Amino acid sequence: MATIFSKIVAGEIPSYKIAEDDKHYAFLDINPVAPGHTLVIPKKEVSYLFDLSDEEYTALQLFAKKVALAMKKALPCERIGVTVIGLEVPHAHIHLVPITTEGDMNFSKPKMTLDPTEMAEIKEKITKYIN
Ligand code: AMP
Repeated sequence: MATIFSKIVAGEIPSYKIAEDDKHYAFLDINPVAPGHTLVIPKKEVSYLFDLSDEEYTALQLFAKKVALAMKKALPCERIGVTVIGLEVPHAHIHLVPITTEGDMNFSKPKMTLDPTEMAEIKEKITKYIN
């Protein structure tokens, strides 16, 4: 059965798309730990990030770098934090989170729900900087 992220890639479930190429997709996390929190995934369905081949893993990280650089330009933050958890959705993904303090990367605190207008504005800001 297709994962929820494969359904997003297929357009069966809506997303706030940030970037896409033939093998990768980036979109805003629906329940961010900080505004602008973005997920970067391979289109190929692999449950665990480290099950990707070296070539697939490297290509995904380079795609994530492109997205992170755009996020840093677009959003007020010191850095773009990077983490991999993967306990909720069994489709490899990298979390990119705009941070100013370490606490901004705390995945144990209650997640946010931003209104659709704010999500759309964040998407617009970041995509402006995607080449
Ligand atoms: P984890 O698998 O623990 O790394 O977390 C999965 C992440 O996917 C969580 O941060 C969720 O908020 C996020 N998520 C789940 N469903 C969606 C969706 N439909 N659109 C965007 N993000 C989602």
